Amino acid sequence: MHELANLRALPSVDQMLSAPDVAPLIERHGRSMVTDALRALLGEIRKGVRAGGTLPMPGDVFASLLSRLEYLDRSNLRPLFNLTGTVLHTNLGRALLAEEAVAAAVDAMREAAALELDLDTGKRGERDSHLRALLCNLTGAEDATVVNNNAAAVLIALGTVGEGREAIVSRGELIEIGGAFRMPDIMERAGVRLVEVGTTNRTHPSDYSKAIGPDTALILKVHTSNYRIEGFTAEVSGADLAAIAREAGVVVVNDLGSGTLVDLSHFGLAREPMVREAIADGADLVTFSGDKLLGGPQAGFIVGRQDLIAEINRNPLKRALRLDKIRIAALEATLKLYRDPDRLAERLPTLRMLSRPEGEIRAQAERLRPAVAAIVAEHGLQVETRACRSQIGSGALPVDTIPSAGLRIAGNSGSRLEALAAALRSLPRPVIGRLTEGALVLDLRCLSDEAGLLDSLSQVGHGLD
Ligand SMILES: *Cc1c(COP(=O)(O)O)cnc(C)c1O
Repeated sequence: MHELANLRALPSVDQMLSAPDVAPLIERHGRSMVTDALRALLGEIRKGVRAGGTLPMPGDVFASLLSRLEYLDRSNLRPLFNLTGTVLHTNLGRALLAEEAVAAAVDAMREAAALELDLDTGKRGERDSHLRALLCNLTGAEDATVVNNNAAAVLIALGTVGEGREAIVSRGELIEIGGAFRMPDIMERAGVRLVEVGTTNRTHPSDYSKAIGPDTALILKVHTSNYRIEGFTAEVSGADLAAIAREAGVVVVNDLGSGTLVDLSHFGLAREPMVREAIADGADLVTFSGDKLLGGPQAGFIVGRQDLIAEINRNPLKRALRLDKIRIAALEATLKLYRDPDRLAERLPTLRMLSRPEGEIRAQAERLRPAVAAIVAEHGLQVETRACRSQIGSGALPVDTIPSAGLRIAGNSGSRLEALAAALRSLPRPVIGRLTEGALVLDLRCLSDEAGLLDSLSQVGHGLD
């Protein structure tokens, strides 16, 4: 009887919907979403009361409704703090775009643009034309085209040049990039027959020339971006490969993976193959990513010989792999920044973060330590500043880590640390660190908004354990 009386005291969905303080929620989330949330919430309360629980106060019902709606409204793609120490983190969306690229993308989203219209002649234009001149200029290539990502670039380049024929690859370069990108599989999908030459550690010019036969369409060179073979090794240079291929009348395709348009040693980083060099060495086609070291949105570039690029553009797959105006606009703005290399590290977030000096990051860690320590002390955890090492990520220069600094959070309870990491992930603006060797390390290389980080951390709930 007592429960029934209790349940009668519970407002109905309709009563709640017409309550004055619910009106702004309807305004914000829409009647249908608020109604569904209320139904679910009142249903749960009823169940709880029937099971012997007490009836919540009306204010509590309202607070539950509010947090439920906020939770439902929250996107998994909401901005977060990448404190993993991996600058181009594939799981966290790789490169952050330059403000110029963001603005160009926003304009393209909001307004009509001459994507496939030549504004000079009034005739039909080509969507890749917005990038072609820039790409040729920055790489020294004759022609250029662009597709969805570098995996797509490799797929369409191989398929166009070599379908039904053979492609020669060194056994030292048959890479897996993670996920479903394994070079032999991509080649199979592209319809080319893989001919492996050399050994894991050593491949010589004669290995290639001996393998070339009447069915050979191309030699594929792959940048071993995510591992390094050291010791007794030999690989054939791009220039030597080009000479061998030219003599035999076959094509060289060079998959650079990340590739870069500038010499990274100017920014204090280890060298990564430059697209311009691969072209100068005589590769017929070079493929590379838009959202790795280049620092733009996801895309795959193919630059090289005009006749081959024209063939790629005629491949029906090109239509399936093409880019939309938003990404083309962002790419154009990103590539334009490369015309002024002196200001590149200022304007391109990827380069800015990668070239941040260790001392500056350490000073930032020392500045933040007391406030972070006060926050995590409530959970029985301690913080110290620590030297650590960042990674470029996305397979670029995996062995060459960059000295960095961060906050090392630890305590004597591993489960408490896990609970903290989970709580940080569920914040309105999540904080993603790295759990390693009994500590949660927050590498500050990618942090610019210090106040924002402290604000987020201060929202971690009490009593984690
Ligand atoms: C990263 C990478 C790819 C795939 O590029 P996406 O842009 O991620 O599709 C292909 N080849 C190499 C060598 C790579 O490093």
